[in-house]
Parts: sequence; structure tokens; C-alpha cells
Amino acid sequence: MKFSGKNVLITGSSRGIGADIARVLAEMGLKVWINYRSQSSLADELKAEIEAKGGQAAVISFDATDEEAFISGIKTIIDADGELAYLVNNAGITNDKLAIRMKTEEFRSVIEANLTSAFIGSREALKSMSKQRFGSVVNISSIVGERGNAGQTNYSASKGGMIAMTKSFAFEGAPRNVRFNCVTPGFIQTDMTHGLKEEVKEAYIKNIPLGRFGDSKEIAHAVAYLLSDYSSYITGEILKVNGGLYM
Ligand code: NAP
Repeated sequence: MKFSGKNVLITGSSRGIGADIARVLAEMGLKVWINYRSQSSLADELKAEIEAKGGQAAVISFDATDEEAFISGIKTIIDADGELAYLVNNAGITNDKLAIRMKTEEFRSVIEANLTSAFIGSREALKSMSKQRFGSVVNISSIVGERGNAGQTNYSASKGGMIAMTKSFAFEGAPRNVRFNCVTPGFIQTDMTHGLKEEVKEAYIKNIPLGRFGDSKEIAHAVAYLLSDYSSYITGEILKVNGGLYM
């Protein structure tokens, strides 16, 4: 994979998909900024693991829903490296419940964590990337944002909103050579899906043409492609990585 830029910030990358995105991008030669909200030990361990393999990594702590902290995090990175070349808005949460039992606050908090945080990151990235006339942002949406899911009205709204928002950012970034794309993972083995009951997992797997849950490295490879120069003519695209579950 070929990259014109040097560094990348991945929100929520101390574990799960974000951590594997950091591992893969570091192996490809980027300096990765590992963002964590609550578990500094995991972020430090990942940094040490990447450095032990000859990669470059730094840890940066902020809650992606905290606007001031996010802005200051991006400033810290630009002060240190002179640029922010790439951003992956990966931080996300679920709080599943049937809609008739979902409190408005439970809806709002998921929108805030998944969609508003990605808006703040994308806006701030676009400001600095516009000045350097170069940059690429990948938002981690979800299959659920494309087709909906019972029990996930809040999550699906946040991830569907992210798809539409990415396209709008793509229009605004294109004149300044800043690209915005989305990856929509299907079911991936992480803490987020770990809690699903075995019978629920089996029912999902029956419907997945490739016959298994995905691995987070498989999401990371799609992200790497969309950040890299290999996708230089792609913006506003939604790349499904779901084993064929939703085509
Ligand atoms: P995960 O294992 O639950 O990890 C989520 C990560 O996001 C954690 O590092 C968490 O940090 C971080 N995070 C959450 N809210 C944050 C905030 N406000 N600020 C900073 N970091 C925050 O989830 P995952 O499965 O890796 O999911 C990663 C992304 O992929 C999410 O956006 C998710 O919606 C999406 N996705 C996942 C799947 C799947 O099947 N797993 C499918 C489709 C899409 P803490 O450790 O501090 O909580």
C-alpha cells in the first residue's frame, strides 16, 4: 500500500477493530496515534507491541464526545508531527433495546458517541487537511446503518447518519483534495459482539454467505486501502466488509 502522508489518528483504538487498524497501518509504515478514553494500559501495551515490531506509535487520551478535548488532541498531533494526514473515526458504542423501551436519553447518547464525535473529528480534520491540500478520512459505520436492525434504532440511526454525513463531507473536501469514505463492517469478532448469545451468533452465521464472522484485521485492510494512494480517485464511497451478508 502506498501512502503520501505520514501519520494517522484512530479514535477508540486501544482495543477491538481500532487496535487492529493501528497494527495494520503501523506495519504499512504510518505513525499511528492510538486514542483511548478509559484504558490507558491497553493503549500503552499496543504502543509497545507496535514499537517492538519496528513501527511508530504514540498514545493520545481523549473522549471523542468531548469537543474541546478532541480539538486539543488534533492540535497536539499537528504540533508534534507538523500535519495530520489521515483520520479514522472508529470510536463507537451500542446500547441495544427495543424502541418501545428505549429512553430518549439512550437514543441521544448513542448518536452523540457514534455520529457527533465523527462530525467533530471530520470537521477538525477537514480544517487542517484543507490547508495542506491533502488528507483522507475513513468513518467506521456499520451494516446496521445500511439495513437497520431490531433493538438498534439508536445505533442504526447513528451509523446511517454517518454514511450520509460522509458523502456530504466528501463534497466539501474534494476541492481541497481531502477524501472521505466509509467502511460498513458486518459482524466482526470483538468485545462488541462477544456478548451475543451463541444461538443468536449461529442464526447470523447461517445468513452470512462466507459462513463466519469477520476478523478485525479484515476491516483494517479495507481502511488501509481507503486511506492510501491506491484509492486516490475514490471519495464518498461506502465499502461493505460483511462476508456478503448485505450486498
Ligand atoms: P469495541 O470492541 O467495543 O471497542 C470500541 C472502542 O471505542 C473502544 O476502544 C472504546 O474505548 C472506544 N470508544 C467508545 N466510545 C469512545 C469515546 N467516546 N471516545 C473514545 N473512545 C471511545 O468495538 P469494536 O467492535 O472494535 O467497534 C469499533 C467500531 O466498529 C465501532 O464504531 C463499531 O460501531 C463499529 N462496528 C463494529 C462491528 C462489530 O461487529 N464489532 C460491526 C460494525 C461496526 P474504551 O475502552 O475506553 O471503552
